[in-house]
Amino acid sequence: MDITGFTNLIFSESTARRYLLGFCWKNHQRFCPRCRERKLYHVSDGRRRCARCGYTFHDFSRRFLNACAFSPRQWLWFLKLFELMVPARDIAQQMGVTYATVLKAQDTVRRAVVAQALDARALYAVGVRPGPGRQGAAARDADSPVFGIIDINGYAICDVLSGLTAEDLLRFKLNFHLATSSVGNVVYTAPYRTYQTLVACGPSLWPSRLVRHEDKRIPAEAGGFWAFARRHLARLRGVDPAHFPLHLKELELRYNHREQNLVEMLAKALCGLVPDG
Ligand SMILES: [Zn+2]
Repeated sequence: MDITGFTNLIFSESTARRYLLGFCWKNHQRFCPRCRERKLYHVSDGRRRCARCGYTFHDFSRRFLNACAFSPRQWLWFLKLFELMVPARDIAQQMGVTYATVLKAQDTVRRAVVAQALDARALYAVGVRPGPGRQGAAARDADSPVFGIIDINGYAICDVLSGLTAEDLLRFKLNFHLATSSVGNVVYTAPYRTYQTLVACGPSLWPSRLVRHEDKRIPAEAGGFWAFARRHLARLRGVDPAHFPLHLKELELRYNHREQNLVEMLAKALCGLVPDG
């Protein structure tokens, strides 16, 4: 979205709100976000109550964008800065909000992107949490899932490989001489089966100083999705393994839609209902 189109959206709180509402309710048809019932009662402050389950909600209840205390206009500004990959500290400064708020908003957008992905269920099955919120202590020390990367004519697929672990990657390296290299703490490999590279991060990949991931000329570096992703991952100072799938899915979206309007795509995702999990 160019700046002119964007200016119209953020002209006022009500233009911004109307834009987001369009992604929340098809043809303005409200339904209960808990049980999908369409018979609703109006209650105070524009909220509605479900005739079937009694759930009281407002227009953004149970949606990703409800996770942060941003107004619709703030959300759109945030998405524009996110689209442009402005660093979190600069976003915080530009928007006059805290750094922690920006991190939370980034996390929310990434989880909203995952919810839209075709393989969302597979990602939830390997431990990616659907909704925003704090990660459990156990998850912080765990390895990320392993992803297999395919890039067909400029379209990337990051397959979550539930049958492989980060420990398996290390075993392939040590026992079968699978070449590995790294960007920050993220390890990637030479081609494996139908995949151009396998990628993962986590403590199992770095068992001691003697194990290094410094092999040269890994084919996936040469171009396409992994060259693109590697460049972006290099800018982050290390990735939390629990957040690695979120970063990867964000990069997959950016790569596959590199000529398209990301603000609109992200706004749509953000207006989606948070899956139960
Ligand atoms: Zn209901």
